[in-house]
Amino acid sequence: MASSVPLTPKGSFPRYLEHLSGSGKAIGVLTSGGDAQGMNAAVRAVVRMGIYVGAKVYFIYEGYQGMVDGGSNIVEAKWESVSSILQVGGTIIGSARCKAFHTREGRLQAAANLVQWGITNLCVIGGDGSLTGANIFRKEWSELLVELAKNGKISEEAVTKYSYLNVVGMVGSIDNDFCGTDMTIGTDSALHRIMEVIDAIMTTAQSHQRTFVLEVMGRHCGYLALVSALACGADWVFLPESPPEEGWEENMCVKLSENRARKKRLNIIIVAEGAIDTQNQPISSQKIKDLVVKQLGFDTRVTILGHVQRGGTPSAFDRILASRMGVEAVVALLEATPETPACVVSLSGNQAVRLPLVECVQMTQDVQKAMDERRFKDAVRLRGRSFEGNLNIYKRLAIKLPDDQITKSNCSVAVINVGAPAAGMNAAVRSAVRVGIADGHKMLAIYDGFDGFAKGQIKEIGWSDVGGWTGQGGSILGTKRVLPGKFLEEIAEQIRAHSINALLIIGGFEAYLGLLELSAAREKYEELCIPMVMVPATVSNNVPGSDFSIGSDTALNTITDTCDRIKQSASGTKRRVFIIETMGGYCGYLANMGGLAAGADAAYIFEEPFDIRDLQSNVEHLTEKMKTSIQRGLVLRNESCSENYTTDFIYQLYSEEGKGVFDCRKNVLGHMQQGGVPSPFDRNFGTKISARAMQWITTKLKESYGKGKKCVSDDYICVLGISKRNVIFQPVADLKEETDFEHRIPKEQWWLKLRPLMKILAKYKASFDVSDSGQLEPVQDQNTQGEPAAI
Ligand code: ATP
Repeated sequence: MASSVPLTPKGSFPRYLEHLSGSGKAIGVLTSGGDAQGMNAAVRAVVRMGIYVGAKVYFIYEGYQGMVDGGSNIVEAKWESVSSILQVGGTIIGSARCKAFHTREGRLQAAANLVQWGITNLCVIGGDGSLTGANIFRKEWSELLVELAKNGKISEEAVTKYSYLNVVGMVGSIDNDFCGTDMTIGTDSALHRIMEVIDAIMTTAQSHQRTFVLEVMGRHCGYLALVSALACGADWVFLPESPPEEGWEENMCVKLSENRARKKRLNIIIVAEGAIDTQNQPISSQKIKDLVVKQLGFDTRVTILGHVQRGGTPSAFDRILASRMGVEAVVALLEATPETPACVVSLSGNQAVRLPLVECVQMTQDVQKAMDERRFKDAVRLRGRSFEGNLNIYKRLAIKLPDDQITKSNCSVAVINVGAPAAGMNAAVRSAVRVGIADGHKMLAIYDGFDGFAKGQIKEIGWSDVGGWTGQGGSILGTKRVLPGKFLEEIAEQIRAHSINALLIIGGFEAYLGLLELSAAREKYEELCIPMVMVPATVSNNVPGSDFSIGSDTALNTITDTCDRIKQSASGTKRRVFIIETMGGYCGYLANMGGLAAGADAAYIFEEPFDIRDLQSNVEHLTEKMKTSIQRGLVLRNESCSENYTTDFIYQLYSEEGKGVFDCRKNVLGHMQQGGVPSPFDRNFGTKISARAMQWITTKLKESYGKGKKCVSDDYICVLGISKRNVIFQPVADLKEETDFEHRIPKEQWWLKLRPLMKILAKYKASFDVSDSGQLEPVQDQNTQGEPAAI
């Protein structure tokens, strides 16, 4: 953390960032259209990054209306103006729909107001309508200025001085209806709200044997409905992009009664608010309820979620996404030239990218056109690969084909959980079991990890056995840290006894080590020469071969939530610094990303060595901070970041050095990070990655079938991971090179590039290759983009 020194005073801009100097520039930031959780994090990042690079940043209150009205609607933002807003839903600068901005007169007035403040850089956070408006404004800008000069509203010099307007958009919308980004700001939080309601409803519905019809938002986009259906294992889902086939009324009722016959006590039907049939006629939740009551006589209730979905605190993902996008937006504005087209900053895989705004808006409108013209297949395709993938998996997992329609493979595939529990493991097992059964395999569950494997704790597991597993935390199969090395003989014996043809391992670093041991033992034990694949599941996110692992998003949300509460606990007690220890072993992912999401002042991690000078500099930073209106500090410390600078040590050091200025409290979060119900992301990630793993197993089994030889080559024993935009299977043996075995982390970790971002937003000077993307990318065919959602 050598670069963690307080921000340089005005005028002494660090040399390495000179090309990004915002000195003399003014940036206006506004939120427009419907609000979404995470907009505040985006505003905060724009303000802080703008001030950091030496620009002036102005809030434009009430969207375009404030721009048209001017006056007190345009106010310079200070560093402190955006403190304590990360955790707040909605937008503190207000959002509105503005008729006047649709007219040239309105835009003329808006231009006059911007010129008055010298604002020639605009950062718009909103949906496609808002971004379209911004682009029109940008194109007209020079003409508007000429007209204003002609009317005597501005000087001729002003026309030259402010000759062009730079525009950058960020998509804030809970609907995730914008082409070009994997996730819009607010979508993940909306999914959190929906899942909270569904989880609550499931408990009451279980008690009474009820059918629930749940209507979720999304206007003409079915993303929220589809992903919620996937995350809760809904019986049926209605989407605008993929209307049900004719005769759906009958099919749905058959499906519901079949599920009841399988002793399923509740049915969940999810309806997107814009759901339609193949004739473009709306399908309302009431209509569905009436149908179920009439045809089946089931006790059926309708719940329309409404604005609950827009409310509440933003999820960790939305805070991080919005912070990244906000910083990227400022960089894009600083790098823009008169020739640069307006762009949107968005997310592709785990990378920030800049895309041409006009093309993205066009593609977004094309989806609607396709639906209007009843070209539903096109609509699904245009929504993107991830949407299509979600839909296919939903269909596979929700509907069990009759046994006589499944071609038996005569293969047995076993599933095992290894290591510490991680939220989402059960969703992964459910998905594997169902996909495996649909592929004709006999599915076997191994209980209690490798220990149970050696002891023969193996049982066949069926379609209904895994019903309702998506929302359950921990590991229902049972999981242990024990490695297979000392039981190889016994495990080989069990494989033979149960005729296991392939193995799916769901777990963390122990699972990875276990897979390596099994790989190495294949020469000695022929039984081990079967396809084996591991999907990463650990809160620590430290498995080589994957950028993400199941469970870490849930843990991150727990950390973020707890930090919010802890910060709030000091609202009446001024001048307090909290030191919070997170899990992760040597991997600093949780501390770093938790720090970013919770707005920490520092996050100590093993990967970035620090010394007493850094600690001293942080104390000075906090001392300075106590002189401002923000008299609160938050410092995260990864549990193994340093052998000697322990949490107690840091607490004592801060307490001593901060005497008279601030006092300290420490919290060790511990196992609460491993528990809890899985987040929507972990449910879906677990579901999709595991389905992908089973698909691989089926292919490998077919490949080797009848060849009479065992699967000895390394590509039969793989880790399945996500890397940038791609899903990749890597032979476990190849990953050895990439692993720091002593510290149980991958040698390269993508998230380290976000370290400077947290420091900048906490007012530290940091050397920052700020931009993930650094340049405008052409809009990609949605079919070629988007991981991890696109598994
Ligand atoms: P949401 O996804 O929440 O609906 P949105 O940005 O699409 O967000 P809109 O109501 O379409 O919401 O647009 C918000 C505001 O942006 C409008 O009230 C208007 O001021 C401005 N705007 C939208 N479209 C245009 C346009 N074609 N020309 C000028 N201004 C526009």
